[in-house]
Amino acid sequence: MDNNIFSDLDDLGFKDIDKLNIYEKEGQKIKKTAEDNNKISHADLLYDRTITCPVCGSTFKARSIKTSSYRIIKKDSDFFINYNIINPYFYDVWICNDCGYASMKTDFNKIKNSQKDMVKNKISTKWKGKIYPAVYDVNIAIERYKLSLLNYTIIESPSSKKAMNCLKLSWMYRILSQSENENLFMKYSLLGFKKAYNNEDFPIYSMDKFTTMYLIGELSRRIGDSDEALLWLGNVITNPKANQKIKDKARDQKDLITLSKESIEVSSNSSLDKNIEIKKPKKKGKGFFSKFF
Ligand SMILES: [Zn+2]
Repeated sequence: MDNNIFSDLDDLGFKDIDKLNIYEKEGQKIKKTAEDNNKISHADLLYDRTITCPVCGSTFKARSIKTSSYRIIKKDSDFFINYNIINPYFYDVWICNDCGYASMKTDFNKIKNSQKDMVKNKISTKWKGKIYPAVYDVNIAIERYKLSLLNYTIIESPSSKKAMNCLKLSWMYRILSQSENENLFMKYSLLGFKKAYNNEDFPIYSMDKFTTMYLIGELSRRIGDSDEALLWLGNVITNPKANQKIKDKARDQKDLITLSKESIEVSSNSSLDKNIEIKKPKKKGKGFFSKFF
């Protein structure tokens, strides 16, 4: 657009105004960067919810997403939901900045008195506090999920909680395309869900027994443990009590394994035996995270 719309006014005394923009103040950026737009629009989709900490009794503001602010793009086969506009996973963990107690919001108030003492003795004594920015990103989400996982571990929560927390950490690394970390937390999630399957009552985070079996099968498939995956998925498919929807999902994932096994056989016939080595499940080490469960 021609910026010289005021050039006719020179004679009236208005010189040096030929670059004046009628819709923007002088010096104001005409176009905000994409990042600015992103932050501003995200901030508009959030509000502060006042929460009382069940451990120390202080109140804090939890960043929360306004309902209907996000849209689902697709769901992955392990129940990870891809959102656009704003990601609810980023705001899933609540942290009390006074005492360091943190958990996924659905569990926040489900804490026993004996567990509160564990937080006070083992978390609060070390917690330094942190002020987070108004809008969270995936790296902040990872930090918050890890603090939550630390709390679940310290207060000796059931395996299902740590398993779900690890699964969500795995998903955050999927967003970052960091497959090594994604797999690491998926393995710990799988370990926890197997323990939960044997020791806890259903539903587990709204998953019934067969959905949990399916998830264990699917996580096994994703970490490359095909035999274990076929066992769990097969048990879903053949169980007369499982609903058709979860059976169909189990069948789809079982087909993927069969297809991939066939392609490996084809490769090995073409003297590419290495492929089979790669697909072998690794031995489970007793790493740092094994103590979480
Ligand atoms: Zn607190």
